[in-house]
Amino acid sequence: MSLLLGQIAAEFGYADRSGTGLFSDAIVSGMDVYGLIGNPVGHSLSPPMHEAAYEELGIEARYVTFEPEADAIGEAIDGAQTLGVDGLNVTIPFKQSVLDHVAVDERAERIGAVNTIDFSADPPTGHNTDAAGVVRSFEHHAVDLDGATAVIVGAGGAGRAIAFGLADAGATVRIANRTTDRAESLAAAVPGATAHGLDSLDTLLSDADILANATSVGMEEDETPVPSAALHDELVVLDAVYSPIKTRLLREAEAAGAKTIDGAWMLLFQGVAAFERWTGTSAPVAVMNQALRDRL
Ligand code: NAP
Repeated sequence: MSLLLGQIAAEFGYADRSGTGLFSDAIVSGMDVYGLIGNPVGHSLSPPMHEAAYEELGIEARYVTFEPEADAIGEAIDGAQTLGVDGLNVTIPFKQSVLDHVAVDERAERIGAVNTIDFSADPPTGHNTDAAGVVRSFEHHAVDLDGATAVIVGAGGAGRAIAFGLADAGATVRIANRTTDRAESLAAAVPGATAHGLDSLDTLLSDADILANATSVGMEEDETPVPSAALHDELVVLDAVYSPIKTRLLREAEAAGAKTIDGAWMLLFQGVAAFERWTGTSAPVAVMNQALRDRL
């Protein structure tokens, strides 16, 4: 494939992650181009994670970030296709709105969100690798999901991906959310799931195997959505929040004797799944993990 770099930069408002004009220097005709579309994307950890994989495997590719205006997603997708972009990750605020502009696989359709577009498919097709990423995070830590009971706190974008991912892997899902209506509408779509308020967490967790935090609580402040007294040593606790890497929930879970999985694992494995879909090659997981953790 070949690209007119200035054309892309002008069309999408390319965000130069290095501030050094790397884009025009580094991409040459013939390279594959992958990237992330969102707004904002300036602090994304995806470029170093994917580029470490290209370097490790000798793949001639670049991973760049694009920041179109919120109402320009359709034009951005058409433009990316026209210019020969090979694959895009999608983040806030486009994960839902992009569904109107690409074909969508069955799981992304159920989740109602796309975070990965494969432009080599005809038509370009959207997938949700957040769901695959959370399942692979548990598998990587030798956690058996089939037959497990999982409590998911949160029913936003991450909560939806985690709920469908875990249910598809054979877990029974209990969804607890601050806004109970939102938990109810998600539970109605996930086979076997039940909906609850946050005030039920004590009871919900007492016989559970897995707890996943899919709220943003713990990111801005040193807070947790789960009462520490509800944590116990038979739980595996995953936090989707990855900044800070060790949230209060994870610290309290460790203190209760639970096994913990930080949010960087989910971020890593959604990237691994996107990489493997785009390139058809097994991802160098350890290298991508290191590149990610070096920046956290
Ligand atoms: P979202 O769609 O905006 O959903 C936010 C969720 O957090 C909702 O369930 C919301 O409850 C809940 N919430 C917010 N503030 C709360 C509070 N003070 N108390 C209780 N619940 C609260 O966001 P999202 O995209 O799902 O992201 C959620 C978190 O997951 C973020 O920290 C994000 O960075 C992280 N994430 C991580 C990955 C990864 O790869 N590691 C991937 C995706 C997201 P209501 O419904 O009641 O508002």
